[in-house]
Amino acid sequence: MRTVYVNGDYIPENEAKISVFDRGFLMADGVYEVTSVLGGKLVDFEGHAKRLERSLNELDMPKPPEFDDLLEIHRELVRANGIDEGLVYLQVTRGSDGDRDFVFPSAETRPTVVMFTQAKPGLAENPAAKKGIKVISIDDIRWGRRDIKTVQLLYPSMGKMMAKAKGADDAWMVEDGEVTEGTSNNAYIVKDGRIITRALSNDILHGITRAAVLRFAREAQMEVVERNFTIDEAQKADEAFVTSASTFVMPVVEIDGATLGDGTPGPVARRLREIYVDEARKAAV
Ligand code: PMP
Repeated sequence: MRTVYVNGDYIPENEAKISVFDRGFLMADGVYEVTSVLGGKLVDFEGHAKRLERSLNELDMPKPPEFDDLLEIHRELVRANGIDEGLVYLQVTRGSDGDRDFVFPSAETRPTVVMFTQAKPGLAENPAAKKGIKVISIDDIRWGRRDIKTVQLLYPSMGKMMAKAKGADDAWMVEDGEVTEGTSNNAYIVKDGRIITRALSNDILHGITRAAVLRFAREAQMEVVERNFTIDEAQKADEAFVTSASTFVMPVVEIDGATLGDGTPGPVARRLREIYVDEARKAAV
């Protein structure tokens, strides 16, 4: 049984309790982060902590009292649960003041903080990365502040189910004819050696993995172009891939039934995955 963290306490998962009035539960009034663990250490912890702070600020949500101790709490959970490769999930909600009301509770209300680990042996040597994944396109009908990492994940979850129903692995979302991002990852195509991905705005989540991968790509003298692209352009690309904290760099080999290249992961995606995993291991804390 896992040890989880709830508002200051490390407890067995079956003893954890959250109020039925918690605004995370009633209104999806909460934000989250997922940090990967390689070799028992945290990957890009600082990036995740900074994005969490930004999400809280954008929603006028108070910082939880343990904000400055989050690294220690992450480490303690990794240790207590013996995680070598896996994920640490962190959620902060606006808490509960004992009733349901659209108006925010007073700023003194304690934000709810929940954290737990997920063991994922083989995260780095993921067999899916050797084969590549298939994606379908779906309409992006999410709200307009996708840069805030809220727990409103119903539509992304439905998107994954739509993909599964069509025999694919994931979905890319399309708005005004152009790809925004994957259900839980940022989307890229590669054409003539150029890496193309949508620029940062309120339309997409500012991926922590995205920032690192683009930095490594530029350091390796690869050309990066931050602009929108369509599904049609993606289907004609040489390669495609997605990035996220839980999949690192994951090659995409099929888009809406169209095979990319020879249907196997391309050299740019494979190289970026290798660089990312190596560097992530080195810099993990
Ligand atoms: N976009 C969306 C919609 C996501 O849910 C995620 C992962 N949570 C990402 C992009 C990738 O972000 P990161 O690299 O920080 O995991």
